[in-house]
Amino acid sequence: MFVDSHTHLYLEEFDPDKTAAVKRAIDAGVGHFMFPNVDLTTLGPMKDLAEKFPGVVDMAIGLHPTEVGPDRESQLQIIRSEALTGRYRAIGEIGMDLYWDSTFVNEQKEAFRQQCQLAAELKLPIIIHCREALNEILEVFDTLDVIPQGVFHSFGGTIDDVKRIRTYGDFYFGINGIVTFKNSKLREVLPEISGDRILLETDSPYLAPVPMRGKRNESAYMIHTAAYVADYLDIPIHDLEALTTDNYRRLFGTDSCR
Ligand SMILES: [Zn+2]
Repeated sequence: MFVDSHTHLYLEEFDPDKTAAVKRAIDAGVGHFMFPNVDLTTLGPMKDLAEKFPGVVDMAIGLHPTEVGPDRESQLQIIRSEALTGRYRAIGEIGMDLYWDSTFVNEQKEAFRQQCQLAAELKLPIIIHCREALNEILEVFDTLDVIPQGVFHSFGGTIDDVKRIRTYGDFYFGINGIVTFKNSKLREVLPEISGDRILLETDSPYLAPVPMRGKRNESAYMIHTAAYVADYLDIPIHDLEALTTDNYRRLFGTDSCR
């Protein structure tokens, strides 16, 4: 069974067939899921869908960097009290995004720092969204007493980026449909990451892999990314399945996905 380590099947893009989207993935061999939160408006829909699939869907709680606003303090207070309920396997997705908008760069930094501290306090891993912001992410790490373990989700960096990140800790790297894009060089980074630190993901509804590129992405399509990665690394698809599922269990401490 494959695990989609980053999917937003609870978003309105999947209305009215959210439940069906989870079932299509299970039928395709993707049998376990991590739902990372986006902002305060997505919390309710995320929990509603996860509750329909106990033991199959894990959740992460966090405030996405592009949603950090002037009311950051109150946003983060709600995230904190949710996290304290103990129903979440990770803090995410959190991080920094300077691609879309850098107006709130300092606010993003502070929100990321505070949520890293929350993760360290609760001994939870972090799910990192990093877009055009690796320097800033690492600057925040420099200020922390404890850098939590975690995954650089939707990784799109270089071999040098992987090496630089590793000087800060034993991180995992989330690989999605980007690796199948013709103009992407991400495939060349896979051997450096190595099979025991790859997590497969879709980031649904975004970034559908070839041959679905341009469509609404869903977790069932992750098999195309998996097939591509296995082929490129020249390992049997079942070995990649076992490796990446083990990786997921090791990072998120879940026994239910096997
Ligand atoms: Zn995401």
